[in-house]
Amino acid sequence: MDISVVVPLYNEVESLPELTSWISKVMFDNGFTYEIILVDDGSNDGSWDMILKLKESNSFIRGIKFRRNYGKSAALNVGFEAANGNVVITMDADLQDSPDEIPALYRRITEDKYDLVSGWKAKRYDPITKTIPTKVFNSVTRSMSGIKNLHDFNCGLKAYRKTVVKNIEVYGEMHRYIPVIAKWAGFTKIGEQIVEHRPRKYGKTKFGMSRFVNGFLDLLSIFFVGKFGKRPMHFFGTMGTLSFLTGLVISIWLISDKLYYVAHSLKVPREITAQPLFYIALVAIIVGSQLFLTGFIAELVSRNSHERNHYQVEERI
Ligand code: UDP
Ligand code: MG
Repeated sequence: MDISVVVPLYNEVESLPELTSWISKVMFDNGFTYEIILVDDGSNDGSWDMILKLKESNSFIRGIKFRRNYGKSAALNVGFEAANGNVVITMDADLQDSPDEIPALYRRITEDKYDLVSGWKAKRYDPITKTIPTKVFNSVTRSMSGIKNLHDFNCGLKAYRKTVVKNIEVYGEMHRYIPVIAKWAGFTKIGEQIVEHRPRKYGKTKFGMSRFVNGFLDLLSIFFVGKFGKRPMHFFGTMGTLSFLTGLVISIWLISDKLYYVAHSLKVPREITAQPLFYIALVAIIVGSQLFLTGFIAELVSRNSHERNHYQVEERI
């Protein structure tokens, strides 16, 4: 099979007929063998019934239905597991991504030998409240990840070599960082392709202001995971240990200073608690042990979270 198109969707009932017939038309015109994997991420607007209905007249459609809404990352992940095509294309369901881009993306993988090609919506029809944060997000991600040639990490339209999707795990809010996850997994040939950005035709966006909060938390976790590997929180443990040791060294110095005075019975013996250094040492020791505990707890948590994706599939067709 040439291509698997994976579409995560949450309450997109109106778009589905047009989306699936358009994809099928592109595939037919180009002579591709393909499947359309529609992942219903717990919709409650009748999207699943629509998928069942569309399936009756379009045998290239497969459907996976989540028991509830688990988020775009989980939906992509389950689609990746199910995909059979040599090239996997991901695409949003809202018709903002154009299926007409599929043949060119496909060739970038098969002919130019890219592992991953990410769409770049160079011209966007979004309000400025979305474009500016997006620009900041992309430039920070670019510098943190070292993937210098991408402008639009979060574009829903992407193409992957099959081995890539079978060897990465997309979890939490990480759908915004798939090129970064792929790079960590060792797939370094990552390219970009300018694609058309179309206005959302039906329904409304599923990511409101929360995208900024979640995106920021993702950035932090990306930074820590990138720097400290599987145990991001070693960072806190290290800071804690350093702070604790600093406090310890100062205390030892204070005590030996005091002993020196006593031993040589020098004039007025200096009281340890009368010295500013004593308070610095105290704070360093307290802060140090708290940070260390934080790191330790994080360590316990990270050791117990082997399975990040806990989604449940209710039905497959
Ligand atoms: N989506 C999903 N699960 C969610 C939220 C969104 O599968 O919990 C899908 C959504 O149906 C769409 C794609 O992810 O196909 C992108 O979402 P949206 O268009 O709302 O995001 P935007 O284009 O505004 O960034
Ligand atoms: Mg959209």
